[in-house]
Amino acid sequence: MLAVLEGDPLYKPVQLTGEKLALEDVRLLAPVIPRSKVIGVGRNYVEHASELGNDVPEEPLLFLKPNTSVIGPDDPIVLPKHSDEVHHEAELAVIIGRIAKDLPAERVTEVVLGYTCSNDVTARDLQRKDNQWARAKGFDSSCPLGPWIETDLDPGDLAVRCLVNGEQRQDGRTSQMVFDVAALVSYISHAFTLLPGDVILTGTPAGVGPIEVGDHVVVSIENIGVLANQVVADE
Ligand code: ZN
Repeated sequence: MLAVLEGDPLYKPVQLTGEKLALEDVRLLAPVIPRSKVIGVGRNYVEHASELGNDVPEEPLLFLKPNTSVIGPDDPIVLPKHSDEVHHEAELAVIIGRIAKDLPAERVTEVVLGYTCSNDVTARDLQRKDNQWARAKGFDSSCPLGPWIETDLDPGDLAVRCLVNGEQRQDGRTSQMVFDVAALVSYISHAFTLLPGDVILTGTPAGVGPIEVGDHVVVSIENIGVLANQVVADE
């Protein structure tokens, strides 16, 4: 069941309207459209860095995805025409709830609204070809988010999985991150001012691989839920 809220939890207090709806009777949208940015973190799991032949960076490796890349549960992932190799990357996403700048790690919980599932969909061929990852990780529909924002969660040791057509491709735990959530949010707040609604993708565990037209991709994170999207061609 869903309880309907009035207001916007990012900007003003919310109130329950009293209305309740069955989950199967509604269409969920992306739980947040970032007003300013999605920040990605590359190579934050040792086994994933090595599966692509990379070393683990000494400091978090950051990139940006535009807010036009965000889609919600059951929205289609549209494969870009200019890529022949698009990969899934199941990741824990952090939703920022309060403005933050130069934040120490021990204060990070004060600015986190909650967590959701994400898929940092990546055109791997373009990532290899381009010096910057803007095209590879920024195309429309390359940032599925959902199904909702879990606000009561310890992100320290959660199973992060990806299934493609029911077959498990990724199976990691957030405890395997090189830089944990508190370290990442603190580090990123020294690079940029974080605004309410900003989203941080915390990196993907090992097992990334190609997705193709017709595939059904599911990201599942323990104690959050399941984010499913269908892969379609760019017609
Ligand atoms: Zn990623």
